[in-house]
Amino acid sequence: MDAVELITTKRDGGRLSDAQIRWLMQGYVAGTIPDEQVSALLMAIVWRGLHPDELATWTAEMIASGERLDLSSIDRPTVDKHSTGGVGDKVSLVLTPLIAAAGAAMPQLSGRGLGHTGGTLDKMESIPGWRATLSPQEFLQTLRDVGGVICAAGPSLAPADRKLYSLRDVTGTVESIPLISASIMSKKIAEGTESLVLDVKVGSGAFMKNVDDARLLAETMVGLGNAHGVRTTAFLTDMDTPLGNCAGNALEVTESVAVLSGGGPSDLVEITVELAREMLRLAGLDADPGALLASGAVLPTWRKIVAAQGGNPDAELPEASERVVVPASRSGYLTRLDAYRLGVAAWRLGAGRARKEDPVSASAGIVWHARPGDQVTEGQPLLELHVDDPGRVARAQEALVGAVEIADEPVERRPLIIERIS
Ligand code: URA
Repeated sequence: MDAVELITTKRDGGRLSDAQIRWLMQGYVAGTIPDEQVSALLMAIVWRGLHPDELATWTAEMIASGERLDLSSIDRPTVDKHSTGGVGDKVSLVLTPLIAAAGAAMPQLSGRGLGHTGGTLDKMESIPGWRATLSPQEFLQTLRDVGGVICAAGPSLAPADRKLYSLRDVTGTVESIPLISASIMSKKIAEGTESLVLDVKVGSGAFMKNVDDARLLAETMVGLGNAHGVRTTAFLTDMDTPLGNCAGNALEVTESVAVLSGGGPSDLVEITVELAREMLRLAGLDADPGALLASGAVLPTWRKIVAAQGGNPDAELPEASERVVVPASRSGYLTRLDAYRLGVAAWRLGAGRARKEDPVSASAGIVWHARPGDQVTEGQPLLELHVDDPGRVARAQEALVGAVEIADEPVERRPLIIERIS
């Protein structure tokens, strides 16, 4: 076969055969098809899309590029969650122990943050001693013993995605619904979970800026999951406003512990409980996740999950040496707290990375003291920037221009949970 033929077929709107897709994926992973040819094909896919049959084969070949984990030795139903990424999204930190405490097993293979969105592993690594990498044996043992594990995916899980994603990242080919769907679902299917709930974020701080695109992404991923025998449901949820009251690694761990203790911000509790309810339904378990979370009874499971990976659940978390307060510019109702701008500001303060190999600061981030709908008074502290390197503050403040809007009257906001897709 010839890579140029595949590129021109897709460029001209044709359909790739199963054999061509298999040849491409195997050749790319083996290093016999070079980056430049795969880049050209990816760009053609961004423009032309993939037919459902092509997407099914593309995803199956990505899964087949590595091993599919076998979780059959776990004597609880397995169920996982994936979020397409947002700002202040610390749901996995609360959901993993919640699902474990409710009787299912949650194998949460997570990623790191890139750009303005945070990553679960970066957040967990702000806990002294905690390590993200587990051997396959440790992974299974923790899942068996505790019912929940949060860790990095090993190199054998969908290696084609690892290579393709790095290439997409530097060739402007991330924004494609079929490519995003195949990328996410190949990893989740290979992880071996029986059921999956997808949290597809919509809004300024998300990949998908409008509901129609988010719905198409969700429907595509639900279709792929179910076709591979993974019971899959998706929710579209709002990401115009960031979740909870803070963004930043250690800050988000502290907020998650507040929720696990029965308190914490109501939006974070709402979304976590809604996702948990669906996960437990798919797992065939009859438990009330809202009551369980509110009781504080999930906290011991969190402590076990942290300790199982070398973390000290009692350790003080790092705190930033400097705090810069941004006051409200006028009195009125907060009508907008822009997720994207806050995410970029937290990133520039040091909470995120520009390149995969960059380090992140555990302590940097932003706390917001009001949410859309709240009444504020001129001069009251609205945002608090946490930073160790004061040289970063000016660039973060530039990102915050236009992030906050205050008006005389409150505005109607769309609900946090927009739609359920199954
Ligand atoms: N997350 C992924 O894992 N893959 C994508 O393509 C986009 C987001």
